[in-house]
Amino acid sequence: MLAAVVPALGAPLEIRDVPIPDPGPGQVLVRIETSGLCHTDIHAARGEWPVTPKDQLIPGHEGVGIVEAVGSGDLPVGLGQRVALPWLGHACGHCRYCVDGWETYCLSPSYMGYTMDGSYAEYAVAWASHVVPVPDGVEPIDASPLTCAGVTTYKALKVARPQPGETCMVVGIGGLGHLGLQYARIFGSRTVAVDVHADKLELASSLGADHVVDAAEAEDGALGVAGGVDVALVTVPSPAAMRAAHAALNPNGRLVLVGLPADNRLELPVFETVLKGISVIGSLVGTRSDLATVFDLHARGLTRVVTETRRLEDVNTCFEEVLAGAVPARLVFDFRS
Ligand code: ZN
Ligand code: ZN
Repeated sequence: MLAAVVPALGAPLEIRDVPIPDPGPGQVLVRIETSGLCHTDIHAARGEWPVTPKDQLIPGHEGVGIVEAVGSGDLPVGLGQRVALPWLGHACGHCRYCVDGWETYCLSPSYMGYTMDGSYAEYAVAWASHVVPVPDGVEPIDASPLTCAGVTTYKALKVARPQPGETCMVVGIGGLGHLGLQYARIFGSRTVAVDVHADKLELASSLGADHVVDAAEAEDGALGVAGGVDVALVTVPSPAAMRAAHAALNPNGRLVLVGLPADNRLELPVFETVLKGISVIGSLVGTRSDLATVFDLHARGLTRVVTETRRLEDVNTCFEEVLAGAVPARLVFDFRS
């Protein structure tokens, strides 16, 4: 099968012909139809995070495809079923976080396209217990970005609890942010979209943003949102953007972070945080149940996913495009042609 392999951390990916993997007990073999490109894949391929990914990694955690073979065991999905292969490839199911419904914080997790091979390939093996069925009415090309970008922003807002009557700001209208903005509207909040690119702000307006802010024109980094905001979801891995979002918060405001800056540091003012009762929240992807909700919202016509398709052979160029901020929303490798 065709696969994009990381030959060594930091080296360009190599397109190789590798054997189709066998599903073990409890696992399924999925013929990949589409696989989105998440910024995390770039961090993984370059070894930019404290935890080292597996050797000869095949990245990808927005894979969607058809179950073509099953391992032994009583499995929750069957042959011919369309499933998504999310970041959380496996969780133990019995630690306190799994038991409490917080499986993404499992104490012994496996991650698709990081500690196990992912979906930058024509086939991938996944744990049957942790794939998520894709319902009819959700096209693979849409399901892929929903599998990470969608569920990540949906869950981040779910934990930050934007209320009707509150204002929710989404910083960065890219692959994550354009979906986060739509979830903020679904939660019933007034929405403010922030970006530095005019085309992204136009996209935000077309998706129903109540207000847009061009951060490139912000004086001294202040976003100047009249009335302030109650929830700020920052999707860009920029400490300056996180500080600007924090400064725009009203009393009782919630700053929710999903992006990971390369230097792993964020300085925030304690005085304002205490006197305004501000919460700073981190959020990592979402559970299988959250992803099922995200798919359901899309099947009901409540979200729109903006994508461009690419060939896996062009993966290295695609990484450069994403790093340059030059893509409209989400790049998706399409294996069906
Ligand atoms: Zn991702
Ligand atoms: Zn666990």
